[in-house]
Amino acid sequence: MAGIEITELHKRFPDGTVAVEKLDLSMRDGELFVMLGPSGCGKTTTLRSIAGLERQTSGDIRIGHRLVNDLPPAERDIAMVFQFYALYPHLRAKDNIAFPLRAEGTPEAEVKERVAEAARMLRLEALLERRPNQLSGGEQQRVALARALIRQPLAFLMDEPLTNLDAELRADMRTSIKHLQQRLGTTMVYVTHDQLEAMSLGDRIAILNKGRLEQVGTPLEVYNRPASLFCAGFIGSPPMNLLPVEVSEGRLRTPGGLSLVPPGGLSTRQGLVAGVRPEQLEVTTPDAGDAVPARIVSEEVLGDEIIYVVSAGGADVRVRMPPTSRFGLDAPVGLRHTGSPPPVYDATSERLVA
Ligand code: ATP
Repeated sequence: MAGIEITELHKRFPDGTVAVEKLDLSMRDGELFVMLGPSGCGKTTTLRSIAGLERQTSGDIRIGHRLVNDLPPAERDIAMVFQFYALYPHLRAKDNIAFPLRAEGTPEAEVKERVAEAARMLRLEALLERRPNQLSGGEQQRVALARALIRQPLAFLMDEPLTNLDAELRADMRTSIKHLQQRLGTTMVYVTHDQLEAMSLGDRIAILNKGRLEQVGTPLEVYNRPASLFCAGFIGSPPMNLLPVEVSEGRLRTPGGLSLVPPGGLSTRQGLVAGVRPEQLEVTTPDAGDAVPARIVSEEVLGDEIIYVVSAGGADVRVRMPPTSRFGLDAPVGLRHTGSPPPVYDATSERLVA
């Protein structure tokens, strides 16, 4: 087992594209560390640099305190699973799984034992005799995972391994991966652009944007206090409402008159944006205390909740309400803030200020 330390990692491709910019990241020994960000933010390049498949322009990578900058992939003692499973088509599942061990010359009795164990962990026992073309996509991906897990490497690197699976299977595999990682206690770096996947899997999440680090934190930290407007817009579905506010009479007020409890330590009074989660707002009757006049613009009924878009003072905001709440479209309603003080951002720097 080993932590991974990335210091000032910089990657500039020959065509001049800067994919990763002076990135510092520290993955702790035994943690499931998720790198999250939109397409093109540099996640894959960072992961491939850790694996040794990409040579960084500058910066250092340490795996278990060992500087690996000059080591080829095979000597870094990591296992990688990609979005595309890349199984050997002519080999049965059991031989695909056994492949890395046989390549290392592991005695056959031990190979059998470890294949059986990996198959048990990934519920593949009944499928071991099949070739890849006799397996579903999800089964193939489980075989690919088993092949990675069998090596007991210092760390696992996963690049969107569930992207090609349907939603139900993806949820199922997420649980398996989390469970396996906890059982094995091996450091795992997991790349995804899916914030839900990041939230449900990660011990900690790093949010990347244009090759730079925006925030590192636990799922709850990044959900409750996104470090920048970029993070605020990226985490949560639907995302936070980003409302221009100013401080007046000890409250935060939007131009539409919505009043919010300000967080402590707020020194500036203008050029501020509050990040208000849809579940921290409430649609009420127009005459309820503290409510501002509003109008329902649209509703999305999701079964266990309703997402309303509400227009108040010229701004549209999203509100998450229980399925029992029913307000007609265009109906006059009230809108009020019910949550704790929202995070507040500087509109110019786009960073969290309180
Ligand atoms: P995705 O989720 O789409 O895979 P990503 O966050 O993993 O995106 P990277 O694949 O790391 O992003 O790419 C980061 C940036 O580097 C992108 O702008 C991409 O176009 C660029 N890039 C990647 N590989 C090369 C290359 N070989 N040559 C030039 N530019 C590249």
